[in-house]
Amino acid sequence: MRKVYLDHAATTPVRPEVLAEMVPYFSEHFGNASSGHQWGRRAREAVDVAREQVAEFIGAHPDEIIFTSGGTEADNLALRGCLSAMRGKRGGLVTNAAEHDAVLGTAEELLHAGHAVTILGVDQQACVDPEAVRRAVNQDTALVSVMLANNEVGSIQPVGEIAGIARESGAFMHTDAVQAAAGLALDVEELGVDMLSLSAHKVYGPKGVGALCVRRGTRLAPILTGGGQELGRRGGTENVPGLVGMGKACELMKRSLTEDVPRIARLRDRLRDGILERVPGARCNGHPERRLANNAHFLFPGALGETVVVALDEQGVAGSSGSACAAGSTEASHVLVAMGVPLDQAYDSLRLSLGRGTSEQDIEWVLQVLPPIVERVRQAQDGRA
Ligand code: PLP
Repeated sequence: MRKVYLDHAATTPVRPEVLAEMVPYFSEHFGNASSGHQWGRRAREAVDVAREQVAEFIGAHPDEIIFTSGGTEADNLALRGCLSAMRGKRGGLVTNAAEHDAVLGTAEELLHAGHAVTILGVDQQACVDPEAVRRAVNQDTALVSVMLANNEVGSIQPVGEIAGIARESGAFMHTDAVQAAAGLALDVEELGVDMLSLSAHKVYGPKGVGALCVRRGTRLAPILTGGGQELGRRGGTENVPGLVGMGKACELMKRSLTEDVPRIARLRDRLRDGILERVPGARCNGHPERRLANNAHFLFPGALGETVVVALDEQGVAGSSGSACAAGSTEASHVLVAMGVPLDQAYDSLRLSLGRGTSEQDIEWVLQVLPPIVERVRQAQDGRA
């Protein structure tokens, strides 16, 4: 049976070139990057190269890159580290309801710890209104955090404009660019942000590796204290093979933006148009134009997303329902709910996210198998109603 992986927003395969760079750092060059001998120096050199590659990917200086264990830690470090460093001066955080849980969960914790946290609403495309940010920021706001591209519905946020508003109010600006990195050219200078989160496994690098870019002059306290690694900003022995992989993945991703992304966008459009044509009542979610090239997000009213995902899997196709299972009960996606999708439809969603390996034949296969699946799921649910 054909195997079609359309869940690149969840994770991407490690590119062979990335793996090849990583392998020697597991055994041959296994040194601790903090050791002074030649084994250590070899590892340190590799970490330095990786730092340069990541910095180059986003238009930053190498000394502005803090390596982390992934996007989640980068988001935690940005929010907790900035508010901790600003203690006694400013304590407020402004973010929004469509963020990834790495930001929203952290915001909730900070609220419980006594910080003034504002969670702004979003529009029907999951976008934040910059004017709402302007109204929310005040003398106490230490940090504004708005993601660059939404991980569920793919909408791209007006981060540059929001960063300008944050700056005018004297607050720092963070953006979670974990998903955006697979589809947009990133430039921290152009975006005007003070901090930006990345994760290697969304750009064909290894899992468990990420980075927070912290621009010079940004106030940040470490959240992991220890051996003083990463210039004292993140303790812990460096994951040298992982960092090497992330550096290489970023270098290759930069080229992929011109080599692969336009083709991926065309395939995504073909998928979207084909589905809208063949599945009665289907709708697309997220911003129609300002969206990630690889993301297609559908609502099929009357067809439970989880059931469609299982049936697709049986046909060799990987997708995602965009809802999370928690303790046996399936919760509706907080992003769709924030966008105002009625609760009875918020479960009927399907995210298909394409990647470098996606072919025309893959898309044709999905266009062939998906419409009858939705039809069957609808009939089964109708029969039970
Ligand atoms: N932020 C966004 C927007 C994401 O999509 C993800 C992962 O799904 C994360 C943060 C977390 O990244 P990681 O899986 O590297 O912890």
